[in-house]
Amino acid sequence: MRTAVYAGSFDPVSNGHIDIMERAAKLVDKLYVLITYNLDKKSIFTLEERVNMIKKVIKSDNIEIAWTDDLVVKFAEQHGATALIRGLRNIKDFESEIALYHFNRNIDNRIETIVLFPTYLYTYLSSSAIKELVYYDQDISKYVPSIIKDEIYAGIKRSFKKP
Ligand code: ADP
Repeated sequence: MRTAVYAGSFDPVSNGHIDIMERAAKLVDKLYVLITYNLDKKSIFTLEERVNMIKKVIKSDNIEIAWTDDLVVKFAEQHGATALIRGLRNIKDFESEIALYHFNRNIDNRIETIVLFPTYLYTYLSSSAIKELVYYDQDISKYVPSIIKDEIYAGIKRSFKKP
C-alpha cells in the first residue's frame, strides 16, 4: 500500500491546498493531510477548527486528517508513509522547499518528496494573502470553498482587529 503525507499549517486551508490534496490522493492508496505547528507563525484557527474545515471540503475517501507536534518525517515513519507531498507555487517556494527536502532526506533518506505544481489560478495564493484580503474587507470566494468561506472570514476578523 502506498501512503503519503501532505503537511502544512492550513491556517486556513485554501483552494490551493485542496487542489494539491485531491490530486495527491489520486497518486496513492492513502494520503494523510497532516496539520503541523509553524514555529514562525501564530495560528488563527484552533487545531479542531482546521480539522473540521478540511473535513468539510475534501472529497476523496482515502484522505485521513491528522496532526502532529513532531517532525513530519517522524510521523511518516510511524504511519508507514514513503512519500511527502509538497506544493510548489513559484520560484519563491523553490528555495524553502529544496532546503526542506534536504533536511528531510538527512533525517530519513527512505522517504521521498513529491512536488506538485498548483493550478494556475492558485500559483500566488497563500494563507497570508487570504488573511490580508479579509483584513481589508475583500471578497475571498475565488480562493476558498464556499462552504467554509464565512467561517474563515469570521475567524480572521476575530484575530485581526483594526486599530
Ligand atoms: P506552512 O506549513 O509553510 O504554513 P502551508 O500550510 O501554507 O505551509 O502550505 C503547506 C504546503 O502547501 C506547502 O507545500 C505549500 O507550498 C503548499 N501550498 C500552500 N499554498 C498553496 C497553493 N496556493 N497552491 C499549491 N500549494 C500550496
